Amino acid sequence: MRRFYCHCGQEVFFNNTHCGVCGSQLGFSVEQRQLKSLVATSETGIWTFPDDNRGKHYKVCSHREHLIACNWLIASDSPETQCESCALTRVIPPLNKEDNWRRWRNIESSKRRMIYGLLRLNLPIYPRHKGINNGLVFDFLEDQRSNPQSATPHVLNGHATGLITLNVAEADGSFREATREAMNEPYRTLLGHFRHEIGHFYWDNLIKGSSDYAAFCQQFNYSEQNYQQSLNQYYADGPPDDWREHYISAYSSAHPMEDWAETWAHYMMMIETMETAGNYELLANIEEYTDFTELMADWMSLVVKMNAINRSIGNRDAYPFVVSETVQNKIEFIHHCVTKSKNAQGFEAFQ
Ligand SMILES: [Zn+2]
Ligand SMILES: [Zn+2]
Ligand SMILES: [Zn+2]
Repeated sequence: MRRFYCHCGQEVFFNNTHCGVCGSQLGFSVEQRQLKSLVATSETGIWTFPDDNRGKHYKVCSHREHLIACNWLIASDSPETQCESCALTRVIPPLNKEDNWRRWRNIESSKRRMIYGLLRLNLPIYPRHKGINNGLVFDFLEDQRSNPQSATPHVLNGHATGLITLNVAEADGSFREATREAMNEPYRTLLGHFRHEIGHFYWDNLIKGSSDYAAFCQQFNYSEQNYQQSLNQYYADGPPDDWREHYISAYSSAHPMEDWAETWAHYMMMIETMETAGNYELLANIEEYTDFTELMADWMSLVVKMNAINRSIGNRDAYPFVVSETVQNKIEFIHHCVTKSKNAQGFEAFQ
């Protein structure tokens, strides 16, 4: 993540709607990937940036003013009322319960951060509401675990042809922690879920039917194994004893598609963490890495420091992973696919 500053000089953060020092309103511009303070224009509800000499005008997302507190901006001449992140959400949980407002707010906040990661990687985003076949869309659903009156006993998180479904109970720390322990995962976060599910979406869009398909099969050991059978076997038997030599997580061993999504999520996590570290001068490089060996060397030197700091605080390791040579090769393959796809960027193709 980049560092952002209010015009008064105060550092502000990705989710902020106001500067804590001078009270200025803040807004995030998708095209500039920047959070800045806003200056009102003579027209009601239309804003600009103080340093913008091109005179670009914005309006705020319609989800800004209530509990969702979305701080993303929309071009003033756009017919849309929701920002490009909020507009990707199709179904939200019933809002007659206070808890669902909180859950929805946390979920949208993590989703915006994941989408920031896609913008950072210049990946094309295909919104379904723009009429794109199998385009990206999100449903946030509740089930009987968070609402005993719900008609749905069990909502599974997942991706299918552009639709990402998330159980809103994942926004509750207690639910997530209990599931994390039951599934023996080192960490489980909303952001991690989004990065994983969007990995499946990009498999459909970057790998399926592409010239990289054969390389994917080789790298991820894919021979069109039956998905459901593999998953059932994983849930019955657990991962193989030596999974750390081959996979970034235990769940990666369930099926090559899950291995891809787990590795994709890991790559997105690495890139954003390294951008943050670079901007706080913990790494020399704040630009994109063209050389993968250099990227990996910087990453490993950074995580050693992050873990040492966490141990001093008394926390769990920030980075409880082992990156074997096999895993590193898979991460490199994803780096290659992402780098190659930079011809269509962000939402720009769909304005
Ligand atoms: Zn300020
Ligand atoms: Zn929004
Ligand atoms: Zn998955």
